[in-house]
Amino acid sequence: MGFRFYDTLVNEVRPFTPREEGVVRMYNCGPTVYDSQHIGNYRAATFADVLRRSLDLAGYEVHQVMNLTDVGHLTLDDIESGEDKMELAARREGRTAWEIAQAYIDEYMLVVEKMNWRRPLAYPRATDHVAEMIEITEALVASGHAYVTDAGNVYFSVASFPEYGKLSGNTVEALEAGSRVDVLDEKQHPADFALWKRDAEHQMQWDSPWGEGFPGWHIECSAMSRKYLGDELDIHTGGEDNVFPHHECEIAQSESFTGKTFVRHWMHTRHLQVDGGKMAKSDGTFITYEQVEARGHSMRALRYLLLSAHYRMPLNFTWDALAGAESVVDGLDATIRTLTSDAALAADPAVAERCAAVEAGFLAALQDDLNVSAALAHVHDLRGFVNKHGPFATADADRVRAAFAYVDELLGLDLLTQDSGADGDDAAEIDALVQERIDARASKNWARADEIRDELTGRGITVEDTPDGARWYR
Ligand SMILES: [Zn+2]
Repeated sequence: MGFRFYDTLVNEVRPFTPREEGVVRMYNCGPTVYDSQHIGNYRAATFADVLRRSLDLAGYEVHQVMNLTDVGHLTLDDIESGEDKMELAARREGRTAWEIAQAYIDEYMLVVEKMNWRRPLAYPRATDHVAEMIEITEALVASGHAYVTDAGNVYFSVASFPEYGKLSGNTVEALEAGSRVDVLDEKQHPADFALWKRDAEHQMQWDSPWGEGFPGWHIECSAMSRKYLGDELDIHTGGEDNVFPHHECEIAQSESFTGKTFVRHWMHTRHLQVDGGKMAKSDGTFITYEQVEARGHSMRALRYLLLSAHYRMPLNFTWDALAGAESVVDGLDATIRTLTSDAALAADPAVAERCAAVEAGFLAALQDDLNVSAALAHVHDLRGFVNKHGPFATADADRVRAAFAYVDELLGLDLLTQDSGADGDDAAEIDALVQERIDARASKNWARADEIRDELTGRGITVEDTPDGARWYR
């Protein structure tokens, strides 16, 4: 069975087939680097990572590119105010726009490490690709898809692309009906969007056939996706807010320029809410990794929380939900840590069978439009099986570890490399206490056994008595 994904263009789940067998060319709209990324942005990147890892797991060669928007994030309001978000941030922080971009790119790369997002082929920066944007813009002007105003700005003419609106439903007619009155006079149609903004005052500016200025936002993704992945992409992703205008405009530019179908499969993820609302700096719901770590949570827990919700379903972040994710991750660690083998035992074929079933079910669930909750059910099935059984024959214990390694290719929790350092430096000491408690109970020294249990509880350790002995986890 192959993958089936929801395609925003046709609003239904349909089979996914890349243009070239075995190879997937995927472009993800990445961060705009005028501010810290918050956990809502992390959700979109985690979705891209889950998609990437699922394709990897199924054996595809994935050519993935994620852009860094470090110039020209122009909304209509920005054009009217004459400033883009990079310049606003530069004024706010008393730094240059170039310094702002570098600082937030550095911070983003730190988050990439912390969230364990697999690195794409490239993280191209918009400011490094202005020449490619100018090339496409010139061609669009020459072919009549774009026009230059008296002020030296270049706009794409939506009326020149009859399919405008096919992704979002915002057709030229629909937009006309609902158009705002205060549109810029220089535009031929209110929905026309900027490819180039002439502005000699802008901190980030380049020479162009239309004078000094800077590129529009949408053109960067048409230019960079083409440079790294070619004219035709298999998958293009973004957050739900990218559907319109950003992706609608990318389609118009790219398809007018190349005459080919730009993207075979459009995928978008829903927003993250915090405490049931939109994130805002003013009320403390603008959460970054710093708050997560300051509250003593691990980034593994945050990663698990963000990936465990289906990408097309709403996800509401609460600190309780994060604590819940933490205990699931701790539970997985505990199962793997306490996996015991006994060289004297003969291998049990049921173990290998169960592991193979878990792996097959896990991949099949992901192929079904990234049904992560069904995939996770297989992981928890494996965990329950391991907790109930054991000690295992050496080969069986290895097979169980291999199954956890398989699912971790997607989970990205480094499940098999959590050493005692990551678990705390006192693991050996706790092992000894747990053993002492077992001995105390065996010799009916109940007072000492209770004392040890209290001490362990005080340190946040839970001891589970199973038929095969005691297991502990934090
Ligand atoms: Zn984009």
